[in-house]
Amino acid sequence: MSSEVTAHEHRGVRHTHANGQLHHAHDYELPDLPTSVDIFDTILRDGSQQEGLSLSVDDKLRVAEQLDHLGVTFIEGGWPGANPKDVEFFARAQKELKLTTATLVAFGSTRRAGVAPHDDAVLANLIGAGAPVACIVAKTWDRHVAEALRTSLDEGVAMVRDSIEYLIKHDLRVFLDAEHFFDGYRRNRDFALRVLGAAEEAGAEALVLCDTNGGSLPDDIGAAVADVREHSSAQLGIHCHNDTGCAVANSLVAVQAGVTQVQGCINGYGERAGNTDLSAAIPNLSLKLNIRTIPSDRLELLTPVAHHIAELVNISPNPQQPYVGNSVFAHKGGLHASAVARSADLYEHIEPDLVGNGTRVVVSEMAGRSTLAMKAAELGLEIDGDLLGGVLEELKHLEHEGYHFEVADGSLELLLRRASGWKPDYFSVESFRVITDHSDPADSPTSTASALGVTTEATVKVHVGDERIVATAEGNGPVNALDAALRAAIEPKFPVLGSIHLTDYRVRVLSTGQGTGAVTRVLVDTTDGLVTWTTIGVSENIIEASWQALYDSVIIGLLHAS
Ligand SMILES: [Zn+2]
Repeated sequence: MSSEVTAHEHRGVRHTHANGQLHHAHDYELPDLPTSVDIFDTILRDGSQQEGLSLSVDDKLRVAEQLDHLGVTFIEGGWPGANPKDVEFFARAQKELKLTTATLVAFGSTRRAGVAPHDDAVLANLIGAGAPVACIVAKTWDRHVAEALRTSLDEGVAMVRDSIEYLIKHDLRVFLDAEHFFDGYRRNRDFALRVLGAAEEAGAEALVLCDTNGGSLPDDIGAAVADVREHSSAQLGIHCHNDTGCAVANSLVAVQAGVTQVQGCINGYGERAGNTDLSAAIPNLSLKLNIRTIPSDRLELLTPVAHHIAELVNISPNPQQPYVGNSVFAHKGGLHASAVARSADLYEHIEPDLVGNGTRVVVSEMAGRSTLAMKAAELGLEIDGDLLGGVLEELKHLEHEGYHFEVADGSLELLLRRASGWKPDYFSVESFRVITDHSDPADSPTSTASALGVTTEATVKVHVGDERIVATAEGNGPVNALDAALRAAIEPKFPVLGSIHLTDYRVRVLSTGQGTGAVTRVLVDTTDGLVTWTTIGVSENIIEASWQALYDSVIIGLLHAS
């Protein structure tokens, strides 16, 4: 861990070609570990290439604020000029983004082949973007120069040199993204190094080695970085894709071999298998290698920021995501869970608080009293032995009916709170009603079921204090209509509900043998943007089951907000 241990340690690295053939053994010397590395987040450009991920300009500004709040060094804002959204982002960023920690970076490419820098639109857009740093991509794999750019290797190198000089003359700091570097290095090392040399000579501040196809393994990365380091005194960066599942490992090895800028995305977004997950790379560097990344007092923001960004990009967080996932410090099973309570470090690789996550006890019908008592303590509830016995009985009874509290932490919290004598008094429900109408439009003799005119309307009657409120809303289905009606009734009284919304709704049929009369279990995920909770409902009537889960989700939202 300490630099004394790794300094000057020789390592023999076997180096293999992509075709699996072993070629020369490569020895390289590991330098001292750096004391700090720059964290460069590329969600707004590279991460947005992920299938299904689309950000509005407002979303992009919100993501940038979160990244700045977390304390990354650089935020890549997009490719100015590539599309109207990125143009608008840079225009608004200049006026609206108040970055306190991070520096905004505009992404682009070198000038086109055969075009003078001052005639090149991409370079003009980079200068016009108003960001202090430009990160430009250049081809370092000879085949790409020949086949994609259709130009000579000499012109490929000149494009890099000219573009960097031109941007620096216009007061920009320049990073070079050496695209396909590791593939290019394997096949034509001289050309790959020649491009880097030209960039450094032209004044590029950082040379970022990209594993664009994501096919490299840690040994390949370490040996190549060490070789580059011997030929260059510029800052080196690493940009990995996760196609081998090694993006984070590759980034760490690169740092150990001399890199001091790590590019990636919080939550590892990106095309195909994604980019380096900075949510794992940052704590690995900070907590395991003792290298400064984001300011140390902000490490505890990692989990809330990762979840907030997941919310902004509208992708459910992966519960098993290292460091920040909901399940990664969760413990199930009586013996194990009670041992965790005594000595957490026997079962947890770090203190979860360090990254803003927390130890979670998972409670199911298999749980003993001690597990339940720990869950109560986690929620700050004091429940004595007799009551605890009663809750356990009720829990087992409900699980027998089809409830599954292990996956419904919100409903479990309400069960425990009610046992301690608490009763939610935000509002009381008098009744609710859902009507679904469908009619076969007379003028459409060929209509199918999906073409039927279906409308759903829900009415909810509630009491808030002395006031009786009746609200009606339509929805695309009964649950959607009920949710809308309940919100219409109580949101004016509880405006906080405006920032709380459902993210997932799942139905499972439990006793399939009974056909449409079977018991259904409904799970609803709800978030306030920082925390997500799951609530449950079970009934033979799917609307009733959905209502229970919806009601619990709203109560938890109000409880946590107050
Ligand atoms: Zn990339």
